[in-house]
Amino acid sequence: MRNIGNLTIIALVILNIVVWLVFPPVYDGDPNFLRRYAGEVIGSNNIVLMACSLFLSTRPKWAEKYFGGLDKMYITHRHTGTAALLLIFVHVLTVPISTTGWRLGNYLAVIAFAGIVSIALITLAPRIPFLSRLAGSDYDDWKKLKRWIGIFFILAFFHSLTLGDHALDARTAITWTMIFFIIGTVSYLYTEIFGGIFKKFLPYKVEAVKHPNNSSTEVTLRAKKKPIKKQRAGQFLFVRFPGDKALNESHPFTISSAPAEEVLRLTIKASGNFTRELFATLREDTDAVIEGAYGMFDYKTGGQKQIWIAGGIGLTPFLSFIRDMDGGLAHDVDFYYTVRHPEEALFLDEIRDADERNPRLKTHIRFSATEGSLTIDHILKKIHGDVKDYHVYLCGPLPMIQAFEKKFLALGLPKGQIHFEEFNFR
Ligand SMILES: Cc1cc2nc3c(=O)[nH]c(=O)nc-3n(C[C@H](O)[C@H](O)[C@H](O)COP(=O)(O)OP(=O)(O)OC[C@H]3O[C@@H](n4cnc5c(N)ncnc54)[C@H](O)[C@@H]3O)c2cc1C
Repeated sequence: MRNIGNLTIIALVILNIVVWLVFPPVYDGDPNFLRRYAGEVIGSNNIVLMACSLFLSTRPKWAEKYFGGLDKMYITHRHTGTAALLLIFVHVLTVPISTTGWRLGNYLAVIAFAGIVSIALITLAPRIPFLSRLAGSDYDDWKKLKRWIGIFFILAFFHSLTLGDHALDARTAITWTMIFFIIGTVSYLYTEIFGGIFKKFLPYKVEAVKHPNNSSTEVTLRAKKKPIKKQRAGQFLFVRFPGDKALNESHPFTISSAPAEEVLRLTIKASGNFTRELFATLREDTDAVIEGAYGMFDYKTGGQKQIWIAGGIGLTPFLSFIRDMDGGLAHDVDFYYTVRHPEEALFLDEIRDADERNPRLKTHIRFSATEGSLTIDHILKKIHGDVKDYHVYLCGPLPMIQAFEKKFLALGLPKGQIHFEEFNFR
């Protein structure tokens, strides 16, 4: 079920190629006909991939189950965007480009190419070592820049219609590609303009603000009217505080309280502009607006034997799991919580208390600055039987998630038994 979304996108790309092969453009005697034709097929795949990417940006809640959660949809959004970027280069290298007699379509192509490539590179930069300085640190600036992608998408499609008659010779195939142009454009307009009318934004009020340590904030929120639809433990929401200009940006945070609680609790680490501002200035009685809940990071759907690994603020979904337990945990769980120093560790008393009340929960807390980093060997020493019988749940810094995922895969654990929540949508 969780792979249906990705498989659908691959199927659409293949179907698009088939449509272009079955309904080719009419041969007009041009010696460059084949190159032009190949370029059009590649260009149309660009439109398909970008349309899928724009569609995923609309955060369709109903589609979460086909991708494994909204965070995984964002990973697919990134992958389709990256694939489209690579295809743009292939498209440019394939189509014959003349230096004379340029039409409107050629100019549109240059603008779309420059716009899409710049935004895509700035988006991917944090993940590419030699480009990471290009990335800038502010997510909000990047989000504002990324808003332009839809305009370049529209220009890219219009470039194919305004190159001259030959691009229109494949009428059936162009009509088919137009469906994706419409899907992409409507998705873009929904995300940027009229989505707010349809999305459920729920009004809440900040009931309490606490600072469990000198870099984190626990925010308690109470619904002013209808509360958020009963969520599963470990899900996340988007929150903003409209009364405060600096805090009126929608950011994702895990609901660290249990679903049965009347209030929602968020545990937020001060890591960038928004979260530092929130740490310094958020006060009781501030209005909040919530959207959600999203996510499918849910240990209850996993096997009997489980390993949970939380790094730093990656504790929050596990905190929700722990708060949801009533002493009757139905799985055998080895829970590793690792932070650098004891003063960074959050809610240790609560975690230890849950450990005592739930005989099947074994917690292992590790302070990496003094005890060294948590390694796969530490984990393997504590497991009972074959590691392949375990389901692993990971949340924390991306390098930690990637390193453990690699190690578990190398030990033969199937990919489907490794579950992770990525605290990053970029
Ligand atoms: C599913 C999910 C659950 C999360 N749960 C928690 C949690 O429980 N506690 C916690 O402290 N943090 C959590 N985060 C991370 C939190 O959203 C970011 O730390 C926060 O948004 C950073 O914003 P900033 O302006 O302070 O930092 P910046 O320096 O501007 O951003 C740091 C990084 O955070 C990410 N980010 C920033 N703003 C957003 C945004 N609006 N939408 C998506 N990603 C963004 C980007 O990758 C960015 O590069 C979660 C993130 C995700 C995706």
